[in-house]
Amino acid sequence: MRIVLLGPPGAGKGTQASAIVKKYNIPHISTGDIFRANIKEGTALGVQAKEYMDKGLLVPDELVVSIVKDRLTKEDCKNGFLLDGFPRTVNQAEALDVELNAMGIKLDGVVNIEADSQILIERAIGRRICKECGATYHIKFNPPKFEGLCDNDKTPLFQRDDDIEETVATRIKVYENQTQPLIEYYDKKGLILNVDGIKPIDEVFNIIVKALEK
Ligand code: ADP
Ligand code: AMP
Ligand code: ZN
Repeated sequence: MRIVLLGPPGAGKGTQASAIVKKYNIPHISTGDIFRANIKEGTALGVQAKEYMDKGLLVPDELVVSIVKDRLTKEDCKNGFLLDGFPRTVNQAEALDVELNAMGIKLDGVVNIEADSQILIERAIGRRICKECGATYHIKFNPPKFEGLCDNDKTPLFQRDDDIEETVATRIKVYENQTQPLIEYYDKKGLILNVDGIKPIDEVFNIIVKALEK
């Protein structure tokens, strides 16, 4: 299965990605996670990316595309992959098409998770993540068993630097201007699977699996 997850910030891409990759046994490729890992390690890429991320802006295409291209050539992508948060611009989508063509493969579907901005802001502001294992929680909608601690490894949970209201609002605008056009881009190719992201996490997952297996 070769899947792209599309949707505004806070729609539930990362949450659904974890469940989808488990079901299909494919790697989860999140460009946001890759940048956060680089920031944590203090690499040159991380330093560059952080400047854009903290403002809620997109990291320039040149930096993102080469990372994904490299990642897709790795052995574990042979039987499929899930791209989460990439592509985010038409330019990135075109670059991905060129790469997939060169590899002689095609996407199976582009899952578009929809939710309105009021919900997105509430979800993003309440999001807490585990830096150790990458698990995502929500203080209200998906709380950990013990407050502030990851269920998997008991690591203290952390709020992303870009999950403050003002930055989330910018990220939603950036999504509308630069990423939303991808819905039409992939719809023209017959790949879009629209999913109502307002439903509870388990329901959204069931809808996605049904759509992918149709
Ligand atoms: P994205 O990767 O699209 O930015 P996440 O998967 O990180 O979004 O989800 C954003 C926040 O919303 C997280 O705190 C997550 O626990 C919560 N969340 C995700 N899906 C749902 C849902 N269907 N209902 C309620 N809360 C959700
Ligand atoms: P995410 O974890 O998907 O919410 O991404 C967090 C931030 O990382 C975004 O707000 C961007 O600054 C940056 N980012 C992640 N993926 C991309 C991408 N494909 N193109 C440009 N910037 C990205
Ligand atoms: Zn953890």
